[in-house]
Amino acid sequence: MTDDRLKQLSMVLLDVDGVLTTGQVIYDDSGRETKVFSVRDGLGIRLLMEAGIRVGIVTGRSSMALKHRCDNLGIELLKDGIRDKAAALASILKETGIPAEKTAFVGDDLPDLPIMRRVGVPIAVGDAHEQVKRLAVWTTLAKGGCGAIREVSERILKARGDWEPLLKKLFP
Ligand SMILES: [Mg+2]
Repeated sequence: MTDDRLKQLSMVLLDVDGVLTTGQVIYDDSGRETKVFSVRDGLGIRLLMEAGIRVGIVTGRSSMALKHRCDNLGIELLKDGIRDKAAALASILKETGIPAEKTAFVGDDLPDLPIMRRVGVPIAVGDAHEQVKRLAVWTTLAKGGCGAIREVSERILKARGDWEPLLKKLFP
């Protein structure tokens, strides 16, 4: 993939399990779900938003852990408990007015295929299912939950020429 496609992006949508996490889910004794998120991915998400790129979540599962993570990062675009990710995409595009061509989606498994077919820049994490990788225009080196989103963020920001100015502004 040429990085020209990344320059046009206005929105990055993310799956959660297997993308922002390794895909493992922990249940405590009361049945509550816990997840482990990468702080480096978190900074990557903040940097994207700082550069004016919308970041949203489209996931099949629903948990308080995810809601807290979104609050923490300032992600308002949260579609959880989603069965049909393509339908969720349609409503996000309508809601934001951002066209599909200017949207990226990062996925790892088969339920992500329908939404990945409909965005301009479908991206797979390093340990995604083979069919997800085949559909993606780019597969990250990092695995899900292990810095894949940080890698996505940095490449997009560098393609847009936002990387150096952001570093100067935030970490002078
Ligand atoms: Mg997943």
